[in-house]
Amino acid sequence: MPDYEIPAVELLTDEQTSQERRIVLRLLEPDRIFGPLAPASLWRLSGEMESLLELHRLIEARGDTCVFATSDRRPLRIAQGWRIGLGQWWTPYELELVADTTLEWRKAPFDDENMVDYCPLCYRGLEEPEPVWLAAARPICSDCHAKFIVTDYLGVRTSSR
Ligand SMILES: [Zn+2]
Repeated sequence: MPDYEIPAVELLTDEQTSQERRIVLRLLEPDRIFGPLAPASLWRLSGEMESLLELHRLIEARGDTCVFATSDRRPLRIAQGWRIGLGQWWTPYELELVADTTLEWRKAPFDDENMVDYCPLCYRGLEEPEPVWLAAARPICSDCHAKFIVTDYLGVRTSSR
Protein backbone atom coordinates (compact mmCIF):
# COMPACT_ATOMS: atom_id res chain seq x y z
CA MET A 1 0.00 0.00 0.00
CA PRO A 2 1.43 3.40 -0.96
CA ASP A 3 2.06 5.54 2.11
CA TYR A 4 1.97 8.88 0.32
CA GLU A 5 -0.66 10.44 -1.85
CA ILE A 6 -0.30 8.95 -5.30
CA PRO A 7 -1.25 10.84 -8.49
CA ALA A 8 -4.94 10.94 -9.30
CA VAL A 9 -6.36 9.62 -12.56
CA GLU A 10 -9.84 9.25 -14.02
CA LEU A 11 -11.17 6.13 -15.73
CA LEU A 12 -12.39 6.85 -19.25
CA THR A 13 -13.03 3.36 -20.64
CA ASP A 14 -12.61 -0.29 -19.66
CA GLU A 15 -12.89 -2.54 -22.71
CA GLN A 16 -12.26 -6.20 -23.47
CA THR A 17 -10.89 -6.59 -26.99
CA SER A 18 -10.48 -9.99 -28.62
CA GLN A 19 -6.91 -10.09 -27.33
CA GLU A 20 -6.76 -8.24 -24.07
CA ARG A 21 -8.39 -5.91 -21.63
CA ARG A 22 -7.74 -2.27 -22.30
CA ILE A 23 -8.03 0.51 -19.76
CA VAL A 24 -8.02 4.14 -20.82
CA LEU A 25 -7.20 6.73 -18.17
CA ARG A 26 -6.88 10.48 -18.03
CA LEU A 27 -4.01 11.75 -15.91
CA LEU A 28 -5.42 14.42 -13.60
CA GLU A 29 -2.04 15.31 -12.09
CA PRO A 30 0.48 14.70 -14.89
CA ASP A 31 3.04 16.98 -13.21
CA ARG A 32 3.27 14.53 -10.32
CA ILE A 33 4.05 11.51 -12.47
CA PHE A 34 7.64 10.41 -12.97
CA GLY A 35 9.01 7.24 -14.45
CA PRO A 36 7.15 4.46 -16.26
CA LEU A 37 3.34 4.71 -16.24
CA ALA A 38 3.15 0.92 -16.28
CA PRO A 39 3.32 -1.46 -14.61
CA ALA A 40 1.13 0.18 -12.01
CA SER A 41 -1.81 -0.50 -9.73
CA LEU A 42 -5.00 1.51 -9.49
CA TRP A 43 -5.95 2.41 -5.93
CA ARG A 44 -9.12 3.66 -4.34
CA LEU A 45 -8.24 7.07 -2.90
CA SER A 46 -11.22 7.74 -0.66
CA GLY A 47 -12.31 5.72 2.32
CA GLU A 48 -10.32 2.57 2.85
CA MET A 49 -7.39 2.39 0.46
CA GLU A 50 -7.80 -0.66 -1.69
CA SER A 51 -5.94 -1.98 -4.70
CA LEU A 52 -8.43 -2.10 -7.55
CA LEU A 53 -6.60 -3.32 -10.64
CA GLU A 54 -3.14 -3.96 -12.06
CA LEU A 55 -2.10 -2.20 -15.26
CA HIS A 56 0.55 -4.27 -17.00
CA ARG A 57 1.63 -2.48 -20.12
CA LEU A 58 1.39 1.01 -21.55
CA ILE A 59 0.16 0.86 -25.13
CA GLU A 60 -0.16 4.52 -25.96
CA ALA A 61 0.06 7.92 -24.31
CA ARG A 62 -1.42 10.91 -26.07
CA GLY A 63 -1.32 14.06 -24.00
CA ASP A 64 -2.92 13.19 -20.66
CA THR A 65 -4.82 10.21 -22.07
CA CYS A 66 -3.15 6.85 -21.66
CA VAL A 67 -4.10 3.40 -22.90
CA PHE A 68 -3.04 0.37 -20.86
CA ALA A 69 -3.30 -3.39 -21.36
CA THR A 70 -3.78 -5.80 -18.49
CA SER A 71 -4.50 -9.46 -17.85
CA ASP A 72 -6.09 -8.58 -14.48
CA ARG A 73 -9.72 -9.70 -14.67
CA ARG A 74 -11.07 -8.08 -11.55
CA PRO A 75 -14.18 -6.02 -12.25
CA LEU A 76 -13.65 -2.30 -11.72
CA ARG A 77 -16.46 -1.13 -9.52
CA ILE A 78 -16.02 2.59 -9.82
CA ALA A 79 -18.31 5.25 -11.17
CA GLN A 80 -17.21 7.34 -14.09
CA GLY A 81 -15.55 10.58 -13.10
CA TRP A 82 -14.23 9.24 -9.79
CA ARG A 83 -10.70 10.11 -8.84
CA ILE A 84 -8.59 7.03 -8.36
CA GLY A 85 -4.88 6.72 -7.68
CA LEU A 86 -2.14 5.49 -10.00
CA GLY A 87 0.58 3.70 -8.02
CA GLN A 88 3.55 3.09 -10.29
CA TRP A 89 5.57 -0.01 -9.49
CA TRP A 90 9.00 0.70 -10.86
CA THR A 91 11.61 3.16 -12.04
CA PRO A 92 12.96 2.90 -15.62
CA TYR A 93 15.72 0.61 -14.30
CA GLU A 94 13.38 -2.17 -13.17
CA LEU A 95 11.22 -1.97 -16.28
CA GLU A 96 14.26 -2.18 -18.52
CA LEU A 97 15.59 -5.14 -16.54
CA VAL A 98 12.36 -7.04 -17.20
CA ALA A 99 11.77 -5.88 -20.79
CA ASP A 100 15.29 -6.36 -22.13
CA THR A 101 15.29 -9.76 -23.87
CA THR A 102 18.99 -9.56 -24.70
CA LEU A 103 19.99 -10.06 -21.07
CA GLU A 104 21.25 -13.50 -20.16
CA TRP A 105 19.99 -14.61 -16.78
CA ARG A 106 21.95 -17.03 -14.66
CA LYS A 107 21.08 -18.67 -11.39
CA ALA A 108 23.41 -18.27 -8.42
CA PRO A 109 23.26 -18.63 -4.66
CA PHE A 110 22.56 -15.35 -2.89
CA ASP A 111 25.77 -13.87 -1.51
CA ASP A 112 25.19 -11.51 1.39
CA GLU A 113 28.62 -9.89 1.15
CA ASN A 114 28.53 -8.94 -2.49
CA MET A 115 24.88 -8.52 -3.43
CA VAL A 116 22.12 -6.03 -2.64
CA ASP A 117 19.92 -7.82 -0.12
CA TYR A 118 16.46 -7.22 -1.54
CA CYS A 119 14.73 -7.90 -4.83
CA PRO A 120 14.27 -4.67 -6.85
CA LEU A 121 11.07 -5.97 -8.44
CA CYS A 122 9.04 -7.02 -5.37
CA TYR A 123 11.19 -5.48 -2.59
CA ARG A 124 11.36 -8.80 -0.74
CA GLY A 125 14.48 -9.40 1.35
CA LEU A 126 16.99 -11.96 0.03
CA GLU A 127 18.83 -14.38 2.28
CA GLU A 128 21.60 -16.93 2.02
CA PRO A 129 21.54 -19.60 0.71
CA GLU A 130 18.46 -19.10 -1.47
CA PRO A 131 19.00 -19.08 -5.22
CA VAL A 132 18.68 -15.75 -7.02
CA TRP A 133 18.91 -14.72 -10.66
CA LEU A 134 21.46 -12.35 -12.11
CA ALA A 135 21.74 -10.55 -15.42
CA ALA A 136 23.12 -7.22 -14.25
CA ALA A 137 24.81 -6.28 -11.00
CA ARG A 138 21.69 -6.75 -8.89
CA PRO A 139 20.01 -10.10 -8.22
CA ILE A 140 16.27 -10.65 -8.43
CA CYS A 141 14.36 -13.32 -6.49
CA SER A 142 13.34 -16.67 -7.99
CA ASP A 143 9.64 -15.81 -7.83
CA CYS A 144 10.12 -12.62 -9.85
CA HIS A 145 12.36 -14.40 -12.33
CA ALA A 146 9.66 -17.01 -12.93
CA LYS A 147 6.87 -14.42 -13.07
CA PHE A 148 8.36 -11.52 -15.01
CA ILE A 149 11.11 -13.16 -17.09
CA VAL A 150 10.01 -16.74 -17.79
CA THR A 151 6.23 -16.31 -18.07
CA ASP A 152 6.35 -12.62 -19.10
CA TYR A 153 3.50 -11.73 -16.75
CA LEU A 154 3.42 -8.13 -17.98
CA GLY A 155 3.53 -8.98 -21.68
CA VAL A 156 6.48 -6.63 -22.25
CA ARG A 157 8.96 -9.25 -23.48
CA THR A 158 7.08 -10.79 -26.37
CA SER A 159 4.94 -7.88 -27.43
CA SER A 160 5.90 -5.99 -30.53
CA ARG A 161 3.50 -3.18 -29.74
ZN1 LIG B 1 11.15 -10.46 -6.30
